[in-house]
Amino acid sequence: MNNNQTLDSKTTHCPCGTSLTYDQCCEPCHSGRAVAETPERLMRSRYSAFVLAHFHYLIKTHHVDYLQGVTEQQLAQGKMQWLGLEVLSSTQLSEYGEVTFKAWFIEDNQLDAIYECSSFIKRDGHWLYTEGQQMQTRLPGRNDACICNSGKKFKQCCAKRLG
Ligand SMILES: [Zn+2]
Ligand SMILES: [Zn+2]
Repeated sequence: MNNNQTLDSKTTHCPCGTSLTYDQCCEPCHSGRAVAETPERLMRSRYSAFVLAHFHYLIKTHHVDYLQGVTEQQLAQGKMQWLGLEVLSSTQLSEYGEVTFKAWFIEDNQLDAIYECSSFIKRDGHWLYTEGQQMQTRLPGRNDACICNSGKKFKQCCAKRLG
């Protein structure tokens, strides 16, 4: 076990930020009992897979032509402590989709976010991540609402995780 979050899958909200439990939300995708029906669903399940260290799922849902040699072992070396996901927009055509999101994390005691417009294509009935356009985001102010959607101010919430 590493330092990634553990959860009670039947009672805890899914890491991807929906109001559903993990069992009702991303678990069916992770276990292969369901396929992600939209690019946003896939993107959310990929975020949850990062949080829960399901690296095999991340490789499986990344289009092989865009993987650039990334392996499960490399992903497992990440030391990110994930704080929350915010999906800003998602669009879907028949076999192409885009999802813009912010995924906040702490790494080496620094707060940062992946702010990205991700692209997805559908192959044989499965949505796959291809690549993302990274953007810069502003860090929250101490009195701003916390980025983890707790409803608290940043200074009273995730700021306390920083040393
Ligand atoms: Zn979820
Ligand atoms: Zn927080």
